[in-house]
Amino acid sequence: MDKSSLKYPVQVDLENCAKEPIHIIGKSQAHGVLVVCDRTNLNITQAGENASEYFGIPVDELLGKPLSYLLKMPFLAPGFDEDSLPQEVEVNRKKFLVLAHISEESLVLDFEPLTQVQDPFFFQKQLTGILNKFQAARSLEELSSEAAKLTRKMFGYDRVMIYRFDEEWNGEVIAETKNDDLESWLGLRYPATDIPQQSRKMFLKHRVRIIANVYYTPVPLKPEISPVTGKPLDISRSSLRAVSPIHIEYLKNMGVGASLSAAIVVKGKLWGLIACHHQAEKYLDFYQRESCRFLAQMLSTEITLHETSSLLSHSEQTESIRRQLVAQMKYHDNIVEALSRDTVQFLELLNCSGGAIFYINEWELNGQTPGKEQLDSLLNNFIKKQSKSLFWTRNLSALFPEAEEYKKTASGLFSLKISDNKYILWFKPEVVQVVTWGGNPQNKVFYNEEEQRLSPRKSFEKWSEKLTGFSEPWHELDRNTARALRENISHVLLTRQRREIEALNEKLIEANRELELFSYGLSHDLRAPVRGMEGFLKILREDFSNPLGSEGLKYLEMSAGLTQKMNDLIDDILEYSRLGHIERVEKHEVDTTAMLKEIFELFNLSANFPSARIEIQEELPPMWGNRRMLFQLWSNLLNNALKYSSEKEAPVIEVGKTLINGRSTFYVKDNGIGVDPALREKIFETFQRGVGSKFKGTGIGLAIVKRIVEKHEGEIWVESEPGEGSVFYFYLEPQK
Ligand code: ADP
Repeated sequence: MDKSSLKYPVQVDLENCAKEPIHIIGKSQAHGVLVVCDRTNLNITQAGENASEYFGIPVDELLGKPLSYLLKMPFLAPGFDEDSLPQEVEVNRKKFLVLAHISEESLVLDFEPLTQVQDPFFFQKQLTGILNKFQAARSLEELSSEAAKLTRKMFGYDRVMIYRFDEEWNGEVIAETKNDDLESWLGLRYPATDIPQQSRKMFLKHRVRIIANVYYTPVPLKPEISPVTGKPLDISRSSLRAVSPIHIEYLKNMGVGASLSAAIVVKGKLWGLIACHHQAEKYLDFYQRESCRFLAQMLSTEITLHETSSLLSHSEQTESIRRQLVAQMKYHDNIVEALSRDTVQFLELLNCSGGAIFYINEWELNGQTPGKEQLDSLLNNFIKKQSKSLFWTRNLSALFPEAEEYKKTASGLFSLKISDNKYILWFKPEVVQVVTWGGNPQNKVFYNEEEQRLSPRKSFEKWSEKLTGFSEPWHELDRNTARALRENISHVLLTRQRREIEALNEKLIEANRELELFSYGLSHDLRAPVRGMEGFLKILREDFSNPLGSEGLKYLEMSAGLTQKMNDLIDDILEYSRLGHIERVEKHEVDTTAMLKEIFELFNLSANFPSARIEIQEELPPMWGNRRMLFQLWSNLLNNALKYSSEKEAPVIEVGKTLINGRSTFYVKDNGIGVDPALREKIFETFQRGVGSKFKGTGIGLAIVKRIVEKHEGEIWVESEPGEGSVFYFYLEPQK
């Protein structure tokens, strides 16, 4: 939204009060005068209409004049982002204290009539007194009551209260001192709407605020819109800023004539207020307000200290329980047992009266809890619907009506999700409380005929309410503890899972080893009968071919071919198994070029692959490894290259060495059928063939090659373009 269109609304009522832009209210209280200058040249741009009353000069005369016209004395304007100290000035022989600050392009000056000048010694004594009293207090109650007494003694209000906010921003009067004729408000609660959010924000920023006279007439700033920026001026930092009409009405209804509020801030959050009421009008000058700010500051510090130390001792206790639970989880196989049936139980982590663990469809209940069926419904219909893994409430039945049935045991619920089928729940019983409100909180508003708007409640008569369905609250420490426990449990579960996977893996390796031994044994035992068959088939062919005729001979040839294939398979399986059993490879230097030549001679290229052209790079480096294995490695790769390019018109096989990632890498390149990209990894496994029966083979060759490369601590891979050819790369560990 364009900020310039934001103007203080003509009418503010309770409907828009939470959004009321009190920072641009455009009016001041009447116990001083607001004067605003253009910060660049110190010409007066705006002033309060009560200027003539205090200065004897009408506003219109001031507007456009330099500041010196009013002050007739040098004035030290504050720097860009820091406030200057208050300065004493004289206007028409009247003394004022000027508080100056910068707001956007303007210099804002609060002129407050100077009453009597404070004796600095008195001021110092007061501050030391505050310090001593606070340090002697032993409990929060003592501290608050001391703070109330001190404030009243120092500033003389009719009633001083220490007001504390709860989690929902309702306030409770936790300490009070007052005139005897006033009724006590100690222990009363006030609904959150009494101090709306933007007022709480202002308190957090400006800390001390006085309303000198509830029955004042607000003084308009003239002109309302700043001529410098063309927008309403932000006067949120001015101590003279006028008060929201709603708040004024609220105070009037309460019978208050003047007020002072000072923020109590703990760990950056508005903890409460020192709230002072006076029946008649009452003004505190700047120095007194500073003393009050100091007092509130000291009180804030003491409360922080107090809360921190009680939190520390409590968290040490829960830490040691959690450590014990972790130890139990390491000791027990069953996590649920570890958490709920050993010396220390998960219940003790949080202050509660019962708890339940849901672990893979089973409930484990401890202490006072709802029944299992009720818990099933609570889990499925409520807890699982929460978006966060931590959830807590002290008023479960308000959110999940079914819980009304068991509110006595479980008005308070704290749930922790470990994973989709694992939850831990803690319960707190209902604590029936009688809460007394300062006026019926349900009647926050009524319609005011005269003002024609909604108004704050008129009656502040005590209104007691019996609170049912509530438990004691959960605390921040509970959240931290639960989070830490979840980490612990996940860690234990993960470690367990890892161990289980490792054990499974070992079993698999063992099973594989057994299978290999079995196939080795089988192949070994098959060898003799197959060789026998081969022999007999040979005799049949040589000596008994005549009676068979051509048809019979064809079948005989086919049988011989199949026995040959069986033989090859048996040889390959035995070789593959043999390699698996070799623990250490005896290595020597091996001449690569000589070995390649030997292999190609054995292949009898001119007879078997007459059209193939072989190109071997010159001066190939030697290899470091087991001669027999390396011979097998190259033979298999070259045999494949020749085999799978044999259908090409002009097969070309290139063998060479290149540098890849700084490693000397051999390659065998062919222009054959290539490898399907989906099979690039698979072809290195046993019995994985990427081709049909068109090419002979057992599907074990590359598995043997891979084993050999691995035994030499190297790597092998293939790059290929189907239909265009393949390149097999491998490197071995170099000689050390
Ligand atoms: P095979 O006995 O089937 O050749 P290998 O283990 O040596 O068994 O090879 C496995 C599979 O890899 C082959 O069936 C084939 O599909 C593919 N292959 C191996 N080398 C090549 C190559 N140079 N060109 C194309 N495909 C190849």
